[in-house]
Formats: sequence, C-alpha cells, structure tokens
Amino acid sequence: MPNVPARDAAVHMTTYRRQPLTLVRGEGTRVWDDEGRSYLDFIAGIAVDSLGHAHPGLTEVIAKQAGTLIQVSNLFYTEQQVELAEMLVKHSALDKAFFCNSGTEANEGAIKLARKWGIANRNGAYEIIAANNGFHGRTLGSVAATGTPRYREFFGPGMPGFVFVDYDDVEAIKAATTPTTAAVMLEPIQGEGGVNVPAPDYLKRVREWCDQNGLLLILDEVQTGTGRTGALWAYEHAGVEPDVMTLAKGLGGGVPIGAILAKDHCAIFEPGDHGSTFGGNALASAAATYVLRQLIDGGVLANVRTRGEQLERRLAGLEDRHESVVGQRGAGLMRGVVFDTDIAVDVATRAMNHGLLVNPVRPNVVRFLPPLNVTAGEIDAAIDIIDTALTEIASA
Ligand SMILES: *Cc1c(COP(=O)(O)O)cnc(C)c1O
Repeated sequence: MPNVPARDAAVHMTTYRRQPLTLVRGEGTRVWDDEGRSYLDFIAGIAVDSLGHAHPGLTEVIAKQAGTLIQVSNLFYTEQQVELAEMLVKHSALDKAFFCNSGTEANEGAIKLARKWGIANRNGAYEIIAANNGFHGRTLGSVAATGTPRYREFFGPGMPGFVFVDYDDVEAIKAATTPTTAAVMLEPIQGEGGVNVPAPDYLKRVREWCDQNGLLLILDEVQTGTGRTGALWAYEHAGVEPDVMTLAKGLGGGVPIGAILAKDHCAIFEPGDHGSTFGGNALASAAATYVLRQLIDGGVLANVRTRGEQLERRLAGLEDRHESVVGQRGAGLMRGVVFDTDIAVDVATRAMNHGLLVNPVRPNVVRFLPPLNVTAGEIDAAIDIIDTALTEIASA
C-alpha cells in the first residue's frame, strides 16, 4: 500500500501531472488519503461523481446489478439499457440514443454521425466548425475537433475536416460556413477551456444560422449535461434544441458511460455503421438510470440550483474581500473564480493543505465542480478555505 507515487512512476506512463495524494476512500463530498487526512472534494472526479462518493443508493444498485448481470455485449438486449435510453429520450429534446464509455468516444460517434448525415443530405458535406479553446477529447477524431493545438502536437497528420472559430462569435461561424460544412460543434459552456460562458443569445443565434443553412448543431454536454449547470441539459438555459448531444462524465455517477443522443432526422446510423463492445452495458446503464432518477425525482437537480446560487453568492463575497479576485463565471455547480494574476495553482495547493480539493483549470482560474448533492455547510466550508488561502497569498 505505501509509496504509491514512487511505484506509479516505475510502471505507469506519466501522462498526468498529479497531486502527491493517494486517495483511499470517500463518503459524500469528502475523500480520505492514505494518511487519514480528509478533504472536501470540489473536483468530484472532474464533474463525474454526481451523487458524491459511496452514495448508499447508487452503491446498492451497482452491487445488485454486479451480482446479476454486468456485460453481455450489444449482440443482445438488456432491460437496463433500454430503460436508460427511454429515460434520456423522455427527459430531453432528442429521440434516439447510442451508448459508449467516455466523452471522447461519444464525440467520435457524433462526428461520424454528422459526416454520414452531411455526405448523404448535403451534397457530400463533411466539414465541422468547432471553437477555439474547446475540448472534445483525446482520441484522434475528437482531438481533431479540439480547438487547443497543443493537444494535437507530436501525433502526425491530423484528421482533416475541421475548422476553428472563436467561441461566442456567431459572425465567425457564418464566415466559416461553406458548401462543405455539415455541422457546428460546441460546448454550451466551455469547461476545460476555463469555464467560458457565451453571451445569452449565442446558442440561439447559432441555432438560427444552422436552421437557415441546413447544418447540424452538435452540443458537447459531456461536462455541462446531467444536471451540472442547474438544468438537466445546459441547452435548456439557451432556449434551443441541438440535433445531436453528447454525454459522459456525470451520467454514470462514477461508472464509465457515454452517450450520443440525436433527433430522429439525423439518427441515421444503420447496422454495421458504429458500435462498442462495452457501450451501455447493464451495470453502467443501471447506474446511470439511478443517477438520472435522483436528479429528476430525488431533488438533486433542485439542489444544484440552490447550492449553485449559494456558491455564486459566496464567490461574490470573495471578490469584495480580496483584490486578487476579479470575477467568476459558470452556471449551477460548474463555476470558475478568476484572479488578477496567475495564482490558481498556488490557491489550489494551499486549499489542498487546508483540506479542500479544487482544480486550477487555467493559470488564473480555479474551477469548482462539487457533487450535485453537496450541502450548504460544505459550500460554506469550501469558500472559507479559499478565503484563508487568498489571505495567505496576499500576506506572503
Ligand atoms: C471531459 C470532456 C470530454 C472528454 O471526456 P473523456 O471521458 O475524458 O473522454 C469531452 N468533452 C467535454 C466537454 C469534456 O469536458
């Protein structure tokens, strides 16, 4: 058990810059390290642990399903999978689902779907307009759609068929549209790009442009979906409906699952077009169905709204108290606090030493992604720790 970081360095490709913490268990919003110290977890597996850690109801569903049937492949039906698809279709503007295992895979599938649709319905069009500073995943297709060139370095020729425009700039999308354009692919709020919130009418205007020009609108809700922003899907805030939506992160409450949802008119995959061995297996589907039930019927979605407002208020208080805090952005329980200089790593490190895990998503932005069932007391405790860290930095 001891010495996990040193053992890791010997046997694991060092793809991640990790904190020197080995976590051994969790309960609710709290995790414990191997020395018995506990932390409020405002990263939650990067917006994944929707119901926190070791949630009794989710644990029971997973244990029961594991003892009944985990995986049979998609050569057969399971009731768990159809139940999840029914639930997603019933509670969204989309009509059909496809299940996979991660965000990048969901976007790979959405890209294939848009290409097939454009080639068939728009005279061979296959190009996708995506946004600078966007993030859609690390596999070759999704990373080709990712407007952060650094993620594409070192890996040889990229996949063609993507053009990038500035986020929150409708005119740029108009200027980039050509007869080869098939789709526009965006995050409703950019997560990894720094919690970037567009103008309130941005998605509506993009939707109008897509309608006028016969383009698909693909919304990557891998991070914003499943309640994170206070609506079940972030597109609801904008008053638009996407043609295609991708999900992963919070959907399974920690069990890996991804999904593509599409409107009937573009849900055009046919047998043999696409597939996944694990996608939507009985275990992951049962977990995701339980998470959605807790959001919709169990009061968790309402909690995101009230706790989100509290977090916003408390962050505004920090802005009043500390010169270093110059703003905040986000929605619901996806928020970033913005500093005047590049102190985000310093803030996150000090917060960790005081028992709070937060993510320095940009050099000057710390991101908060607590479990969706976080309590009022936990939000207050977390902000008090940030307050302490900022006071330390100001007097250092
Ligand atoms: C995290 C993320 C992805 C990639 O998800 P993985 O499960 O890591 O492949 C894609 N899009 C968005 C918006 C994300 O936040």
